[in-house]
Amino acid sequence: MTRYSALGLILLLNLSGCTQAAQDVRETRFLLGTLVEFTIHTKNKQTALEAISKAAQVMRQVENAFTIYGDVDNTVKQFNQADVGQAVRLAPEVDKLLLQSINIHQQSDGAFDPTLGILNKLWGFSGEHPVRQPPTDSQIRHALAQSGAQHIQKTGQGWVKDVQGLALDFGAIAKGYAIDQGIQVFKQYGFTQAIINAGGDMRILGKHGDKPWRIAIRHPRGSQPLGWLRVEHDTSIVTSGDYERFYIYQGQRYHHILNPETGKPAKKSQSVTVIAPTATLADAWSTALFVLGSEQGLMMLKGQEKLDVLWVNADASLSQTHDFPIRDLAHKTE
Ligand code: AMP
Ligand code: MG
Repeated sequence: MTRYSALGLILLLNLSGCTQAAQDVRETRFLLGTLVEFTIHTKNKQTALEAISKAAQVMRQVENAFTIYGDVDNTVKQFNQADVGQAVRLAPEVDKLLLQSINIHQQSDGAFDPTLGILNKLWGFSGEHPVRQPPTDSQIRHALAQSGAQHIQKTGQGWVKDVQGLALDFGAIAKGYAIDQGIQVFKQYGFTQAIINAGGDMRILGKHGDKPWRIAIRHPRGSQPLGWLRVEHDTSIVTSGDYERFYIYQGQRYHHILNPETGKPAKKSQSVTVIAPTATLADAWSTALFVLGSEQGLMMLKGQEKLDVLWVNADASLSQTHDFPIRDLAHKTE
């Protein structure tokens, strides 16, 4: 090959590199107790793979900072093991998310409560050895007495509790927060078309090429989707459902979303899907609005424009906020 034709070949290869079509670069990792799917639509596969690894690493750090299970040490566990009146300094991101959680606790009339650690462990849906039988009423009363956001306070020295045993549990918000942190990594890399989907809870960036992303909403009882969403900008979609972690005992369904008033699984909804600007907000509110049910939830959301919500109510009927953008909605859910 002459020098010139070799040069031509190199130029040709470079040109073909530039015109390579955009593709979905997709990786799956087990994080936060679920399969997390990372998708970036891009021409630059190598950088996308690098961004996905970095995002997964950041999400693992979030999981380790917030989990109340397993062997890792963190400031949440330190607080949970502390005595009444003993101040504990939480890691800055934990401190910040706890303040946000208390805010949502107040806005949701207590339906969202980040202090249900003892109660959640008693029901046992998230531990390594899931329980298959409900606790007794007296066990629930005892755990309820050790729960409630009114029992914690931030002081100059850190957070204190005023009842022995009270335990924080970020299970209803930390996954959303982790998704937001992963998406921040994608943004830092300059990607503008992507999804992080953690077991159906997701945040979306931009479009899918020149089309909207098409997102299925899971049917709480059926195998076919309840309907579809078309998304073409930065938004988050999170669903809380009674089908995610549950068992049937003596013909009755028991699941992992608890009503802080009764200490028992919330009864008004089968599933709640929330669309919000961040996955943190969508996650916390999907849990809160599941507990509240559609009637109370819709009243609470009046004048609140940031959230779009779809309920599958306990009787399988549907309720939704005015602008909920679902398409191809199944008319009947059972
Ligand atoms: P999610 O799947 O996001 O609705 O969150 C449910 C998880 O959050 C449960 O597994 C518990 O760890 C915790 N949780 C249950 N009920 C509540 C509640 N009412 N408020 C806050 N966290 C809760
Ligand atoms: Mg949640």
